[in-house]
Amino acid sequence: MYEQGKKILQQYFGYQDFRAGQKNIISSILERHNTLGVMPTGGGKSICYQVPALLFEGISIVISPLISLMKDQVDTLTNMGIQATYINSSLTHREVQDRLRQVEQGDIKLVYLAPERLESHDFLEALPYLDISLIAVDEAHCMSQWGHDFRPSYREVGSFISRIQGNPIIAAFTATATKEVVEDICMMLNIQEEHTHVTGLSRDNLTFSVLRGTNKESYLSQFLKTNKEESGIVYASTRKEVDQIYASLTGKGYQVGKYHAGLSEEERKQYQEEFLYDQIKIMVATNAFGMGIDKSNVRFVIHYNMPKNVESYYQEAGRAGRDGELSECVLLFNARDVQVQKFLIEESIRSQQRKMQEYQKLQSMMDYCYTQQCLQTYIVQYFGESREEACGKCSNCSKKYVEQDITLEAQKIFSCIHRMNERFGATLVAKVLKGSKDKRIAQFRFDKLPTYGLMSSYTEKELVELINILIAEGYLLLTEGQYPVVKIGSRAVPVLKGKEKVLLKMKEKVEAIIENNDLFEQLRSVRKEVARKEGLPPYVIFPDSTLREMCKYFPLDKDSMLGIKGVGTHRYEKYGEVFVQEIKLFVEKNDIQPVTQPINTESNMETKRTKKTSTTRLTTGEASHHQTLSLYHDGLSLEQIAKEREMSLITIQNHLFKCFDEKPDSFDLNDFILADTEAEIIEAVKQVGSEKLRPIKDILPPNIEYMAIKAVIMKHDL
Ligand code: ADP
Ligand code: MG
Ligand code: ZN
Repeated sequence: MYEQGKKILQQYFGYQDFRAGQKNIISSILERHNTLGVMPTGGGKSICYQVPALLFEGISIVISPLISLMKDQVDTLTNMGIQATYINSSLTHREVQDRLRQVEQGDIKLVYLAPERLESHDFLEALPYLDISLIAVDEAHCMSQWGHDFRPSYREVGSFISRIQGNPIIAAFTATATKEVVEDICMMLNIQEEHTHVTGLSRDNLTFSVLRGTNKESYLSQFLKTNKEESGIVYASTRKEVDQIYASLTGKGYQVGKYHAGLSEEERKQYQEEFLYDQIKIMVATNAFGMGIDKSNVRFVIHYNMPKNVESYYQEAGRAGRDGELSECVLLFNARDVQVQKFLIEESIRSQQRKMQEYQKLQSMMDYCYTQQCLQTYIVQYFGESREEACGKCSNCSKKYVEQDITLEAQKIFSCIHRMNERFGATLVAKVLKGSKDKRIAQFRFDKLPTYGLMSSYTEKELVELINILIAEGYLLLTEGQYPVVKIGSRAVPVLKGKEKVLLKMKEKVEAIIENNDLFEQLRSVRKEVARKEGLPPYVIFPDSTLREMCKYFPLDKDSMLGIKGVGTHRYEKYGEVFVQEIKLFVEKNDIQPVTQPINTESNMETKRTKKTSTTRLTTGEASHHQTLSLYHDGLSLEQIAKEREMSLITIQNHLFKCFDEKPDSFDLNDFILADTEAEIIEAVKQVGSEKLRPIKDILPPNIEYMAIKAVIMKHDL
C-alpha cells in the first residue's frame, strides 16, 4: 500500500518521494494505527492524511480550525484532481444538504469539517450513512489547554469520534511538540506513545535574525524596498501598532493589507484574500492572523514586536517558506515589548500558577532575543530536541552581522541624563548633547553643563535614536505617562564605571532574500494570469519551488515537465503547456543549451519497468536520478549509463547534478574535471558569465566538454 501511496504522490502532487518524516507517519496510518504526527510548519502534514485518504475505501474527514481557509484547502485539492469538499457555517442549509448528499453517494474522498459542525444536527444525522475510514485532526494542539491556541470547540472532537461506527483510524497533526500538549492529544484521541512520530523541528530554509537597537521603521522600509517582489507578513503586538505601520507603509506607496480583531469580518476577509491571491504582497497583522494560512510563498516574516513566547514565535515565523525556498524571519527587539507582554499577562490571566508559567515562557522568549547561541538551535532545544550543530546563517552564526561598540556614546548620554537629574524626556537630553540654543535649555541653565554640546557632531534625530536604542537594550528606562522621562537603569551602572561595554549587533546592509532571474519573473507573471483566470491563489497553481525548478532545468516537453518537483499529471494537463511555451520562448531568445530532459518522470519509470525487467540492479521506485547515481557508483561511464537507461547523455548528466544539489558529497565533481583545464574554464566563465553554457564552450578549446564546464561551475559555485 505504501508503494501505491508513492504513486499517488507522484501522480497527483507531482512529488517524487515522501519526506523522511512523512514516511513513518503514513506507514503508521496505513497499518491502521491511531497516529500523531508532530512536524514543523511547512513540514508537509497535509499529505500525511491526504494520501492515505485516497488509498482507503470510503471517505476521510478532516477537522480543521479555520473556516475561512477551508475553501482554499479544498480548492488546492480539487485543482490537483482530488475530490474534496468542505462543510462549515459559511454555507446555507441547502448547500450543506447538497454536499452531504454528494458525500453519501461516494463522490467525495475528503470532507473538511469545522469543529463547530461536529455538534450540528445536519451532520450527525448523516453520520450513520457514511463510510468513514479516517479522521484527521489538523492543528490538534487546539485540543489541549496547554496549547497556545486552545479552542473550546475542539474539545468535542473526542466525543464526536466515539459516535462514529466502524472504527475509523484517527490521525492527529500539530507543529507544537511540548510534552504536555503531546500527552494531552494522545490521551484525548487514544493514540499510543509508539505511534507518535516527531520530526525534527528545525527549518533549514529559514534564516532567523534578532535585531536589537535597530530603528524599526527605517529597517522595515529598507527591507521592503530590497525585497519588493516578495510576499511577507509583518507582525505587531497591538491593533494600534498594526494600524500605524499600515498607515506608514501605505503612505510610502506600498500595497499593504492589515488584519486584527478590531476590523470587521468583511475587511479581514478581503485583506486576507488579497494577500493569498498576491494582489497585495505585505500583510501587517496581529497574531490573530495566520493560523491555517497555507500560502506557501511567504518569503519573510518580520516581528515588529517580540511575541509572548517561543511557541507563538516559531509558529508565526514558521509561516515563511512553506515551499522550502529560502526565507527570512526577523525579530526587531525593543525592551519595551517586554513591558507590553507583562501587561498582557497581568491583564488576562487570573490564576497565579498560570501567571508564573507565562512569565517563565516570556523569559525564554527574552533569552532568545539576547542569546549568543545559534538561533535555530536555541529554538529546537527549547522544544526539547537535542541539536548541537549551528545553522551557519542566523544573526548569531553569520559573519554579516558586525558588532558595533557604542560604549563611549552611551557613557556620554548616561552622564548627561544624570546631570539633568533624570527629569526630562529624550528630546531635551538630545538637545543638550547637541548643544542646541533652545530657550528651555537656557531656562534650566543646561548650557552650563559639561555635557552641553558634547555630541555636537550628531544630529538631534540621531541622538534621540541612540537614546531609544539604549532604552530598547534596557540601559535606560522610560517612565509611563504623557511626558515620559528617561532614567538611568541598573544595567548602565557597570558601563558608567567602565566595567562593561555596550555592543550592538547590526547587519551591514539589508540583502535580498533570494535572487530571482528573468525567467522566474516571467513564469511568476504567467502563473498570476493563469490564477486569475481560474479564480485561484497563484501558489495553488504551482508553488514557487516548482517555478524555480523550471528555471533550473528548462523543461520543454511533457516528460521533462512531469519530472519537475510539484508537477503532477493533473496539473500538467491543465496548465503545463502554457509554462512550456513560456520556457521555450525564453530558451530560444537567450540561446540556452537545452540542458533538460530531466529527472524522474512517471512515464520514463514506466518505460523502464516494461523494457528493463531483466535489470536487477535497478530497484523500481527509486528516483530516476538516484538510479543513475547507483549505476555511476557501480563504475559505468555516463555514456554507458545513457545507453543502458535509454536516455540522452544530457539527461544522465543532469541526474548527477541533481544528486549533487541534494547531497554535495554524492559523487566527486573532480571526476569530470581535468586538472589542467580547471583554471581555463574558470577564466572563461569570468569572461562570459555562467548563465549560458554555449558561449563558455565557444571560447574554450573544443576538447573541453559541457560536463566539465558544468562541473567546474558547480564546484566553485560560479
Ligand atoms: P504543514 O501543514 O506541515 O505546515 P503543508 O502540508 O502545508 O505543511 O506542506 C508544506 C509544503 O510542502 C507544501 O507546499 C507541500 O506541497 C510541500 N510538500 C509536502 N510534502 C512534500 C514532498 N514529499 N515533497 C515535496 N514537497 C512536499
Ligand atoms: Mg497544515
Ligand atoms: Zn545559527
